[in-house]
Amino acid sequence: MKVLVTGGMGYIGSHTCVQMIEEGIEPVIVDNLCNSKEAVLTRIHELTGVTPVFYQGDIRDRELLARIFNEHRIGSVIHFAGLKAVGESVEKPLEYYDNNVHGTLVLVDAMKTAGVTSLVFSSSATVYGDPDIMPITESTATGQVTNPYGRSKFMVEECLRDIQLAIPEFSITLLRYFNPVGAHPSGKMGEDPQGIPNNLMPFIAQVAVGRREYLSVFGDDYPTPDGTGVRDYIHVMDLADGHIAALKSVGETAGLHIFNLGTGQGSSVLEMVGAFSEACGYEIAFQICPRRAGDIAECWADTQKANELLGWKARFTVSEMAQDTWRWQSNNPQGY
Ligand code: NAD
Ligand code: UDP
Repeated sequence: MKVLVTGGMGYIGSHTCVQMIEEGIEPVIVDNLCNSKEAVLTRIHELTGVTPVFYQGDIRDRELLARIFNEHRIGSVIHFAGLKAVGESVEKPLEYYDNNVHGTLVLVDAMKTAGVTSLVFSSSATVYGDPDIMPITESTATGQVTNPYGRSKFMVEECLRDIQLAIPEFSITLLRYFNPVGAHPSGKMGEDPQGIPNNLMPFIAQVAVGRREYLSVFGDDYPTPDGTGVRDYIHVMDLADGHIAALKSVGETAGLHIFNLGTGQGSSVLEMVGAFSEACGYEIAFQICPRRAGDIAECWADTQKANELLGWKARFTVSEMAQDTWRWQSNNPQGY
């Protein structure tokens, strides 16, 4: 089966392409490289022996999408393409809504015209906002989002819900990722943020490799066991496998399917620092700083639905997430 992978050159998309090829699924990638590099294709080839078909272009380009659907018999689409930096989204909401919301609408319209009815969408636990009760289930209320990035994900979810109602033959799967971290165990592929990393794990990795002096820990006065923020970190290889499980189990079943992809375990910032120090063999320097605006105290997933209906369960531990990130970062100190 051929699957169109939008944003397939990015962090999660590239790992998913590798796992798809291992499973005999043929990815066809469209990516405008606004947050990734063409070198990713070579790494996919090194890991799998296959160089996926790659279209360098934008999902908002209707003609390009029509051409891709015309040139390949696409069975499903996995839609990773989008902008994802929370802070940047506050400064550039227009670009975020245009890319994430309008981009998705152009894509779905092209799918409709081409008669492709299976879509898996990269959503985020951010759609849940700051819920009172943990763990978060798929029926926890959504929409209390605090920034344009989160709102764009929520808006896309709502649009897709309406589209699926109007075109009932569509199979639409919303995968709500918790905190993706880690790298391919080979050390050849990983996260390569441009500029100063926004997220915890790539920041720690850059401190470990000497690119940054110390980690700023944003707040140690949260109502959590050690006072630092708690998140559900999930290994990117587990996440990649979650997409394949979704394609196989519900990708051909008409309806709207929603799953949390997490481990069900929360870890604090200081626990992540500890795991990374162990992986790299020396202490990661950090300073306690004020809370970051918009952050919540804690967040972790109830994964029962994905475990039962997708037959999928995250396997990797926090220690493995740190080891694999360190292997990637130390082998590629400046990224790709
Ligand atoms: P990423 O930036 O590494 O990958 C996204 C890819 O999409 C990049 O290669 C980029 O060049 C491409 N892209 C962006 N806009 C495009 C457009 N208009 N047309 C074509 N290509 C375009 O990000 P990622 O971490 O791999 O995330 C993938 C998806 O998962 C995103 O939609 C993101 O919002 C979502 N997500 C990520 C996280 C996370 O922490 N990484 C958490 C929850 C959800
Ligand atoms: N964090 C931190 N320092 C950093 C980046 C993040 O202390 O440089 C904390 C942040 O406050 C949160 C956790 O690490 O408690 C995860 O943040 P991240 O940005 O990786 O993911 P989020 O859950 O906010 O999307």
